[in-house]
Amino acid sequence: MNVTDFIQLVQAESDESSQRWQERANCLGVDPDLFFPERGASTREAKAVCRGCEVRVECLEYALAHSEKFGIWGGLSERERRRVRRQRALERRRLASA
Ligand code: SF4
Repeated sequence: MNVTDFIQLVQAESDESSQRWQERANCLGVDPDLFFPERGASTREAKAVCRGCEVRVECLEYALAHSEKFGIWGGLSERERRRVRRQRALERRRLASA
């Protein structure tokens, strides 16, 4: 997903029936480049926006489910999401072998 796709996702128009999580995102109207910093650039500002976001969990789960490789989602960087995926995989293996 690139920055344009991200904007479209987060700023998606309302579907008549629902309160899609994107519509409640704290980052609506925030510069999307903040969430896709150059390698080595600070993620602090993006994470500060995420910290107060009521749909942080939904956002993170979306990114994990879609294997989003880039950007800050749910307040986590790519590296932090990889760690979550690894921990979940280990937990699944542990439960399967129990
Ligand atoms: S958690 Fe962060 S990136 Fe996700 S919707 Fe909220 S503010 Fe946007």
